[in-house]
Amino acid sequence: MSDTFFKPVSGFDLPRFAGVPTFMRLPHVDKAHDRYGDIDIGLVGAPWDAGTTNRPGPRHGPRQLRDASTMIRAEHPVTRVRPFEATNMADLGDIGPNPASLDDSLKRFTEYFQSLKGDGIRPLMVGGDHLCTLPALRGVAADGPLGMIHFDSHTDLYHSYFDGQMYTHGTPFRRAIEEGLLDPKRVVQIGIRGTMYDSEDIDFAAGVGVRIIRIEELFRRGTEDVMAEAREIVGDQPIYVSYDIDFVDPAFAPGTGTPEVGGPNSFQAIEVCRHLYGLNILGADLVEVSPPFDQTGGTAFLGASIIFELLCAMTASR
Ligand code: MN
Ligand code: MN
Repeated sequence: MSDTFFKPVSGFDLPRFAGVPTFMRLPHVDKAHDRYGDIDIGLVGAPWDAGTTNRPGPRHGPRQLRDASTMIRAEHPVTRVRPFEATNMADLGDIGPNPASLDDSLKRFTEYFQSLKGDGIRPLMVGGDHLCTLPALRGVAADGPLGMIHFDSHTDLYHSYFDGQMYTHGTPFRRAIEEGLLDPKRVVQIGIRGTMYDSEDIDFAAGVGVRIIRIEELFRRGTEDVMAEAREIVGDQPIYVSYDIDFVDPAFAPGTGTPEVGGPNSFQAIEVCRHLYGLNILGADLVEVSPPFDQTGGTAFLGASIIFELLCAMTASR
């Protein structure tokens, strides 16, 4: 059975520093490929950061993460999951944004993810800034509102920015709830911290039933306990997992636009993902890696490692 799956290039056949970089060294497969229809999980790049309100750069994330992901091997060290032999996945390439138009880019991304949903492919989107998650949800949630486990130092639940601008990386989940893409009572946000403009987002969350687990609570209770509650909140029904790299402390992930101190270390960053197994994950993302601020490349390497963890969880989700 596993012989029919797309396989990463093995580091024993071609060393990992050589070759054309794709996500996880998987084949780049487009819609014209005769085995496109066999794909279950599609790794797709979203090189777009027009929603960024402060320091830009995540548009360069997918390319950098492809390169960093060549470091990843075939087997999970703890769970022993071998995702590439358990589920068929491929690098679907990038969605082309229109860098001169936020509206047109949103439209292109929305159409892309709706079409992917029609093809029966579960996306693992590699950002891009967090606004990219809104069009992803418009596709993935086509059959009804989803639950969501969201790792971030920010809620991204604000109403608007800069004199009424509704579409930024600080607003995607507000829009997603308004559009009926998320069931707020099945949404949990973990790692929230940092100075705030005001508490409008927190008040909105309380009003609609979004559960916010601040960083203080995560550190006080520990990963296992908090993730058990998160699993309880989302239940057995379909969910989306959204992972903003600024969930992680900037000591470990400085390459992002809106870092906040006092966060999880790189082990805790991957540990949370190991509590996602068995959930009904219809889509996931890793967003906000900004290569221009990633002087050592360490943020991209951590990002690639998180993507591998998410792939293992998506593999173990059915
Ligand atoms: Mn975010
Ligand atoms: Mn954030």
